[in-house]
Amino acid sequence: MLNFYPGPSKLYPKVENYLADAFKSGILSQNHRSKSFMDLFHSATSLLKQKLNIPSDYSVFYISSATEAWQIISQSLVKEASTHFFNGNFGEKWFNYAKLIHPQSEGIMFDYTANFPFEKLSNTELVAITQNETSNGTALTNEEIKKIRNSLPQSLIAIDVTSSLGGINLEIQHADIWFASVQKCLGLPSGLGLLICSPKAIKKAFEVNNRVNYNSIIYNYEQMQNLQTTHTPNILGIYLLNSILADLHSIEEISTAVKERSAKLYVEIKKLNSIKLLVENTEIQSETVITLKIDENRVEELKSKLLAKDILIGNGYGYWKKSTLRIANFPQIEDWEYEKLLTALQEIDK
Ligand SMILES: *Cc1c(COP(=O)(O)O)cnc(C)c1O
Repeated sequence: MLNFYPGPSKLYPKVENYLADAFKSGILSQNHRSKSFMDLFHSATSLLKQKLNIPSDYSVFYISSATEAWQIISQSLVKEASTHFFNGNFGEKWFNYAKLIHPQSEGIMFDYTANFPFEKLSNTELVAITQNETSNGTALTNEEIKKIRNSLPQSLIAIDVTSSLGGINLEIQHADIWFASVQKCLGLPSGLGLLICSPKAIKKAFEVNNRVNYNSIIYNYEQMQNLQTTHTPNILGIYLLNSILADLHSIEEISTAVKERSAKLYVEIKKLNSIKLLVENTEIQSETVITLKIDENRVEELKSKLLAKDILIGNGYGYWKKSTLRIANFPQIEDWEYEKLLTALQEIDK
């Protein structure tokens, strides 16, 4: 079965061997205060910084999911209110969680066919942005994030990169908080989230001084100074992340390949008749999640025709659940798999 689901998604094939290695190594039965775990922890963080171009003075925390990051950010980095820009369901969900913690938080929804509304930016405590909106397949570029940074020198900028971290060369220095879970663009099993914070974010965490949540950033930060965690972490997840990162090419190379492949996919899909692109504005098309727009009463038929060819693509999500299907363009999926997918779509479209 070829799997183009945008999360959980296809795993890097080597995960199978690394799972067995993890078992054999004994690390899964060792105390997380042990030297072996501390070495693994140190190695995974160094590799992450090296492979994903994370500035050395940023901190990396291992959490359980992107959803947990949404909550940690409101609890640890916001005193009164955050401002949320969104054009789809993931950004909106984040806003909804934020409101539960800080009811005065503000949501600014914009049209998913339009570019980012820069004119609506204003300095607030924390501005929340979804760089790659997995529900509709729109994305912001590094240039746009830099522009947001420059227009908001005082705010913390937090960016959800759940479906792009590991596939796109993000310029981490242009924002304060970045987070993702590993079951999408990093090709790993679910249950591990990454939260990356700038020194400015850490400073704010100490000002907010949240000491009522076990997963607060300051507790995580204090433990991390000694290569420790606040609770028994996902040792298997960190082991697999460490192993996969060691194999990865540079993010520049990965990103170039992902970009070239998405350009080709967009061109070929555009030529089809009954299958359209949800996002036609080329400036905002995501490189890692491509959303197909299909007549509502033909969605099931298309899905089953693909399944008959042993191909799984993602269902629509949220607002676009019934009228779209999604294709992950992630680095762990190989070029030949996309050739097969395109051929299948062309045959079905006839
Ligand atoms: C999948 C996804 C999430 C949620 O990830 P979990 O691991 O389920 O918490 C959040 N944001 C975006 C953009 C996503 O694609």
